[in-house]
Amino acid sequence: MAKEQGAIFGRSPLITIISFVLIIVIVVGLSIISMQVWGGKPEQQPAIKELIVDGGMTVVQFGQANALTNKALKEIFDLRSKADLEKRLDEYGTPGQVASMVKKKLALAAEHESKNWIKIPVKFFLWLVFLCTIFIVTKKRKVTNGIRNWLLFSAILIFGVIMGSDPSPMGTVKDAIHLYGTAHAIFPPRMIALTIFLLIVFFANKYICAWGCQAGALQDLIFRVNQGGSGKAVAGRHVRLPFVLTNSVRCAFLCIFTIAAFSWGTDIIEPIDPFKIYKPIHIGLAGGIFIGLLLLASLFIYRPWCHLFCPFGLAGWLVEKASLVRISVDYETCIACQKCAAACPSTVMGAILRRDKKTIPDCFACYACREACPTNSIQFSTRKRTLPPAGHFDKRNKDK
Ligand code: SF4
Ligand code: SF4
Repeated sequence: MAKEQGAIFGRSPLITIISFVLIIVIVVGLSIISMQVWGGKPEQQPAIKELIVDGGMTVVQFGQANALTNKALKEIFDLRSKADLEKRLDEYGTPGQVASMVKKKLALAAEHESKNWIKIPVKFFLWLVFLCTIFIVTKKRKVTNGIRNWLLFSAILIFGVIMGSDPSPMGTVKDAIHLYGTAHAIFPPRMIALTIFLLIVFFANKYICAWGCQAGALQDLIFRVNQGGSGKAVAGRHVRLPFVLTNSVRCAFLCIFTIAAFSWGTDIIEPIDPFKIYKPIHIGLAGGIFIGLLLLASLFIYRPWCHLFCPFGLAGWLVEKASLVRISVDYETCIACQKCAAACPSTVMGAILRRDKKTIPDCFACYACREACPTNSIQFSTRKRTLPPAGHFDKRNKDK
């Protein structure tokens, strides 16, 4: 197995660094080409401008003051005839109510306009095909590190480089909060997308994060290129941050993001959004520094964005608690060697074994634990996750 783990990417610090740089160059280079091919739509939330409103204005005067066409006014105010253009704004409510209604309608129209409606359904179709294929293929066969790396690389190419940064699981949560915070609007297609992502989590753990998310797969692959045959880091060392720390930071970050969106209409993720690696020409200086550091950190920390910042990571972690299919251990055959916990890139398998049933961290369904288990005691199935018998691991420790 040791040889197999190093089959694709090298196993010396120099080769790890070269692999890291190569991955970034491939992603950035091909993404620039891909953006030219797709062209067109901005695929980001439009800025919502402040409106000039006065109750004494007529609709047509309001349109002139805010550079809105008669066609737009007709849709916003549901006008029946030309004469309705002379209606006074106070017939529609207070200036605040009118501004809020207009902002909401303009925001939804601009959202619709900004999306690439060919790409979105194609991407979801590819996601479903890709995830189902992985699910079926991996049901019987073990996912070795070599295969895992190729699958992650394929996910990066398909869902990031070719299909672009949008939509993404993270974007659905972030943009939904921001749009509601700034315009009190809910964009139905986004809620459908979010529901699909959460349903995937509900059915099969964080499968979408594990194998489908373009930013998650990139961080994962970078972490794996710095992993030797023994599972240890080739350059430096891997750090498993305590879950209580990562989840606290993630919750605090979501709170700050939400407060900023509702109070000032600001999207604090936008400038540092790591998904922008797939639309590199939109990355600013702050974003470049943040994304660069994040990807560098991914060599040593498993999925730092997912664990420390991602709003979908947090939502998915909550839904994951009710997942139908997930990692579980059969303690009848488990010999308590804890090789699974050592192979797990995060602290989750350690928590499962420790009977720590309240705070099981995010499991990314990566199968590293299943591959490491010498007695095939780990399953990814609908089997209920049970607690180890009391003293199960103490006995093993005594035997040692
Ligand atoms: S938690 Fe990670 S993998 Fe999941 S949506 Fe967020 S960035 Fe993607
Ligand atoms: S090693 Fe196992 S427990 Fe750890 S993240 Fe991967 S699938 Fe989940």
